[in-house]
Amino acid sequence: MQSTESLIGDAFKFENTFARLPPSFYSKQKPHAVRSPVLIKFNDALASELGLDLSNLSDAAKASVFAGNIVPSSSDPLAMVYAGHQFGNLVPRLGDGRALLLGELVDRQGRRMDVQLKGSGPTPYSRMGDGRSWLGPVLREYVVSEAMHALHIPTTRGLAAVETGESVHREGVLPGAVFTRVSSGHFRVGTFQYFSYRGDIPNLRLLARYVQRRLYPDTLKVSNPPLAFLKAVVKAQAQLVAKWLGVGFIHGVMNTDNMSVAGETIDYGPCAFMDGFDTNKVFSSIDQQGRYAYSRQPAIACWNLAMFGSTLLPLISTNQKSAMKLAKKAIESFEHEFSRAWDAVARAKLGFAKQREEDESLALDFLTILNEEQVDFTHAFRHLSNAGNQFRKNDSIRGIFKDKAGIDTWLAKWRERLKHEDVGEASRQIAMKEANPSCIPRNHQIEKAINVAMTGDYSAFNSLLEAVVAPFDERSPENQFFRAPKPEERVERTYCGT
Ligand code: AMP
Ligand code: MG
Repeated sequence: MQSTESLIGDAFKFENTFARLPPSFYSKQKPHAVRSPVLIKFNDALASELGLDLSNLSDAAKASVFAGNIVPSSSDPLAMVYAGHQFGNLVPRLGDGRALLLGELVDRQGRRMDVQLKGSGPTPYSRMGDGRSWLGPVLREYVVSEAMHALHIPTTRGLAAVETGESVHREGVLPGAVFTRVSSGHFRVGTFQYFSYRGDIPNLRLLARYVQRRLYPDTLKVSNPPLAFLKAVVKAQAQLVAKWLGVGFIHGVMNTDNMSVAGETIDYGPCAFMDGFDTNKVFSSIDQQGRYAYSRQPAIACWNLAMFGSTLLPLISTNQKSAMKLAKKAIESFEHEFSRAWDAVARAKLGFAKQREEDESLALDFLTILNEEQVDFTHAFRHLSNAGNQFRKNDSIRGIFKDKAGIDTWLAKWRERLKHEDVGEASRQIAMKEANPSCIPRNHQIEKAINVAMTGDYSAFNSLLEAVVAPFDERSPENQFFRAPKPEERVERTYCGT
């Protein structure tokens, strides 16, 4: 009979192109084995996209791999180094303090994907941390990242979650867990800042070329590849943040080390989806100044991109002045890229396939009336999806506003605008329900799933996960995953969980 190690070795075909870069890019590090790993969840659908067939492995064998107890023979694990502006202050060296890159898998579409363990023990970059994670943040990241994917928002994915059978010490003693995430590359603005801060231009150039080859190969074919790279990242980030705003998502810690140059949502910490709409909403317990509030996210993304652009200056041109000029222009394109992306998101949410001048103010007016009463963001757009092209007294959208006159005035303008569309009511409603989810991973549901899981019962986690990966399904107003929290159920604070 084949040993578990050998079955695991056969199943995983890791490649290690990042590990072939010079040693200054990482520290080779093995995961620290844990006492008794138990598989919580394995993402079969994602595994299949990755061409990863683990059908020969038992759950126990999977748990061993995704806890870091057995390292597949093709893996060359390492912790990546990076720097980062944390709440505006540059920290010259951060790095993966609790994460390890196992290697890369080339997926069915030919994309090279990173597979990383999170919570697998200390690394040379752990500083004061223990390199571990507790169960809460692992379940939160699993649910939220898979929800984001289902909402068509670029994100790192959740491949597996494992209990370690060990305790971690935070505010109290908590159950330990390891999360396995997959991304198109864990390259952060901070990765570039690390080499830039040291004035290490050769490695900066190497990093840029490596990342471009993986993420933006077309930018290598033009006359100024580093500038094209910057522009591509600006565009990807602008589109990402517009999509966040479209579902009421607040990342919570948009430090430059938590911003991926792939334009994917990364590093789910104290993130949350809003219930009631409030443009200044902040959930994170550590964001006391509201630096990363909902509506500040575009401006912060732009600031982070300026930091990214400044790292590329020596690659853009040897003439500093001209490099500055070119980079500045690329950064300034954020505003245009963002507003274009946001307009597209808003139009889809309002049910407009065509583009008209009044769309922008219609969207803004709707958000303004939502903000006044802090109406549930998700409900407002889902009810609007079902509203008629003609006035109907019992349209559910009217029921969620106290100020009926306010919403009626707006709805009248919206209906006027709909007259310019070619499609009929039914098709418009179907299209809108593909842009406006009936279910998002609400904070109180996540918290409930974590609390129940702490008793060893994953049923709430499993049903929440099942709901959020089908966000556009029809749901009745009483459905627990449609419902907004009652005042006493609301969860207004989220924590880093580190
Ligand atoms: P974050 O902003 O939460 O993504 O993390 C900021 C930095 O702290 C990164 O370098 C992490 O690797 C590190 N870090 C966070 N939690 C831990 C932990 N429990 N042990 C070691 N390092 C950690
Ligand atoms: Mg981070």
